Amino acid sequence: MNPQPLRRVLYPGIVLFVLVTMVLLGGITLRSTRNHIILSSIGIMEAHAQLLVNSISEELLENPEELQGYIKKLSDDTQLRITLIDDEGTVTAESNRDPATMDHHGSREEVAPALAGTPASAIRYSDSVGYDMIYYALPFGTGVLRTALPLTELTASLRSVTMHFSAALIIILIIALTALWLVISRIERPLRDLAERSERYAALDFSAPESTGSSLLEVHALSNSLDTMADSLQRQIRSIRRQRDELQAVLNSMSEAVIVLDARRRIIDANPSAQRAFAPTLECDITTVLDTQKLMDMINSTADDEVRRTGEIIHQSQVYQVSVTRLPGSRGFLVLVFNDITTLMHLERVRRDFVANVSHELKTPITSIKGFSETLLEANGEVDQARSKRFLEIIHRQTLRLQAIIDDLLTLSQLEQIDRLEEHHTPVRLVPLIQDALVICREKTRQIDRELTIEGDLQTSVRGNGHLIEQAFINLIENAMKYSEPSTPITISLSPPSQGELIITVTDKGYGIPPKDIQRIFERFYRVDKARSRTKGGTGLGLSIVRHIMLQHRGRVEVTSREGYGSSFSLHFPL
Ligand code: ADP
Repeated sequence: MNPQPLRRVLYPGIVLFVLVTMVLLGGITLRSTRNHIILSSIGIMEAHAQLLVNSISEELLENPEELQGYIKKLSDDTQLRITLIDDEGTVTAESNRDPATMDHHGSREEVAPALAGTPASAIRYSDSVGYDMIYYALPFGTGVLRTALPLTELTASLRSVTMHFSAALIIILIIALTALWLVISRIERPLRDLAERSERYAALDFSAPESTGSSLLEVHALSNSLDTMADSLQRQIRSIRRQRDELQAVLNSMSEAVIVLDARRRIIDANPSAQRAFAPTLECDITTVLDTQKLMDMINSTADDEVRRTGEIIHQSQVYQVSVTRLPGSRGFLVLVFNDITTLMHLERVRRDFVANVSHELKTPITSIKGFSETLLEANGEVDQARSKRFLEIIHRQTLRLQAIIDDLLTLSQLEQIDRLEEHHTPVRLVPLIQDALVICREKTRQIDRELTIEGDLQTSVRGNGHLIEQAFINLIENAMKYSEPSTPITISLSPPSQGELIITVTDKGYGIPPKDIQRIFERFYRVDKARSRTKGGTGLGLSIVRHIMLQHRGRVEVTSREGYGSSFSLHFPL
């Protein structure tokens, strides 16, 4: 149904109502007025007829000419048309016409009953005079006396009533329409205001003025309900916005990548972590970003049976733990959460390797100690002195080795636990520190006279932990002594600061490191030549400790080496 304006609906209805009411009222009034006039006319005619009957004498009836004249005179006096009709229906006297010209009247509606003795009346069109007449017939002797009155007066009265009614109708119509216009105007404007306000509220604009200014109670109530609705709407929107912001903040701060898919597997949202990891394009299919069969299987099975799926996938050599969840009540929306566990997996592998390596490293000296000590015990003092001395020396050497490994492991573990707080760092002059390290290394390697040259800026100092830096120099100088002939030179050069860092290099002319091993020598327990390292008392942890010490100083250690020509280890300290 097409909605219509209030005016268009009300105006025709009211006009129709007023017209029908007035027409009905007019009809009833006209009808009752007419009946009333006719009845009172008949009453007058009856009274006149009685008087006329009494005034006509027997003699007058004997003389037709005189009778005609008398009838005419009476008619003039009473304004009635008077007709005398004999028992055969023949007109014997007539006030308005010549009786000889008049036809038989015995069968007239009012005459017939009167001839039978009953007075009667009728209203009908008169052919004789040419308009509606009201007739009254009264038995008179053997005949009938009939009086007649033209209805023209009645018609005039009715016309006047009709005229008045029409005038009243028009006035009432004008008043009704004006009143209606006023009422509609009072309703229409506030209603239009309310409609406008609702539209603004629907567009989430709550700045509209609150009052309609209407004095109508119903409009006022409607306006109040609208305000209440707007208030509640505002509260709900605020709450939804807050929840959305909270959710957004959580998503933004998550280190896990989160992607939301619609039921057609298109990406409809991705948090910053997901943007960084996969650079997805919104509205695109998930396969344009991640096309692993395992993920597709998880997505498909989650979409089918609403269960949360988890699993691991590999994408561009990163390992992700993925969970796919179907959002309840969301027409098949899926939330994909990716947790990058590559580092975790790597650390786990490192941990496993480390435990295996430590066990392996400890096993050799312990087996040796166990074997020789058992031999000595089983011999029960029956071993010759030279042999038992050799056995005890081996046991001692292996014990030292165990101690060296454990010391290095403890150093590494301590290094991992020390926080990198620079407030613990102090300026450290390097030359005295290197000289101390040299003394210790000569002692350890039993190369008491080994030559070592320090060159460059001898006043150089760095900010750091002096004890740890000395440990780094000990490890590098000891390696340089161990993996070179004692006759070859070792140089430590302190280069001037350049490009924001200070570099100290320990160079030897020793055996060098093969290119295939050079990247791995900083790993724990990695040794190029295991046998050589072991005979030199190496643990395979020295360079790993150096690397950690440099990390503690936000620096790094680098190596260049050529097999058979020597190696160069440089410590880079940031300024
Ligand atoms: P180790 O206790 O065996 O010396 P490191 O971690 O100090 O362990 O060194 C790892 C390996 O790197 C050594 O086993 C050795 O093969 C090699 N290496 C270290 N320094 C040198 C060097 N100056 N010259 C040649 N090889 C070296």
